[in-house]
Amino acid sequence: MAGISLSRVWKRFGSVDVIRDVSLDIEPGELVVFLGPSGSGKTTLLRMIAGLESIDKGTLLIDGVRSEGLAPGRRNVAMVFQNYALYPHMTVAENMAFGLRNIRVAPDVIDQRIAEAARMLEMEALLNRRPSQLSGGQRQRVAIGRAIVKEPKAFLFDEPLSNLDAALRARTRVELAELHQRLQATMIYVTHDQVEAMTLADRIVILNNCRIEQVGTPIEVYTRPASRFVATFVGSPAMNILPVAVSGAGDRLNARLTDGSLVELRGAPTDMDWRELGVRPESLTVVAKGGETSATATVVERLGERTLIYARLADGTQVTAQDRGITSVEPGSTIQLEFDTAGLHLFAADGSAWHASE
Ligand code: ADP
Ligand code: MG
Repeated sequence: MAGISLSRVWKRFGSVDVIRDVSLDIEPGELVVFLGPSGSGKTTLLRMIAGLESIDKGTLLIDGVRSEGLAPGRRNVAMVFQNYALYPHMTVAENMAFGLRNIRVAPDVIDQRIAEAARMLEMEALLNRRPSQLSGGQRQRVAIGRAIVKEPKAFLFDEPLSNLDAALRARTRVELAELHQRLQATMIYVTHDQVEAMTLADRIVILNNCRIEQVGTPIEVYTRPASRFVATFVGSPAMNILPVAVSGAGDRLNARLTDGSLVELRGAPTDMDWRELGVRPESLTVVAKGGETSATATVVERLGERTLIYARLADGTQVTAQDRGITSVEPGSTIQLEFDTAGLHLFAADGSAWHASE
């Protein structure tokens, strides 16, 4: 187990900054997920930690050791790639042994580590097969096994599940969580999939435009997103972001929506230039009467335990709302919508955010 610290690191490709002044402390044994859209710099940052990309400026500590100048092999971290990167002409066991032989680990130690990893990953029966004789999920397991036998100080995963089908991805995700609990190892896991991030992470690092937008537990980034970007990137379906005009004083503010209706806000700072109201679908619910506004349902998505309702306010603004699993709402229905006071967010012109749950 090792902590990893990045301090003010930069990376530039040609004339373009790809990582800008990033600092981050990862605790020993922590599972940290780098989450962000494609091109946000996740892979680059991970490769900078692994030593596969150089660090232009700044420092990297792995287990307390200054590592930005060390060759990849001397950093004692193991990377698992999306495309598995197995040697096709070697068996599973040989693929796992290869890196260890290179650094002259004793053969009986290699055998023992492979046996242990194979048991842990339930792939004892596959050890003599070649990659071409394996399914995608099995290949991914071999790639993970190859990392485990190295007994690294940290595991670095780059979108390891994105080549698997949805059902296998969900199952392997749970297995990875179990593996993390069993090994108690430091892990960094890169993904653009917010469900993977929410379910796996101790903490999520949200990357956007080559910098960190927020670091927090899954619940923190979900309930108290630091920016509009985080608010809309985490959560599915996305948070509704509604342009508003905010007025009032003291601890009572009113947000006027574009359809003219008023939503009351309690405890929001009055001295900010608030521009948008954020509300997740589960906090914008269908009520029989009352509610702050009404809308016309356009699409009704029955998910079993709840129903998502895509609707338009009187001025045409689109919203996503929620109703119980058993609903009488049909496309074309007029519905009353209630804003849950505790589930409101405000976003200001300068990018800052306020959350009713604070
Ligand atoms: P992510 O993994 O989040 O999708 P990457 O780290 O792969 O993002 O890429 C971040 C940015 O850096 C992208 O704009 C990408 O085009 C650029 N980039 C990545 N690798 C290189 C490279 N070797 N040379 C030039 N540009 C690169
Ligand atoms: Mg990537």
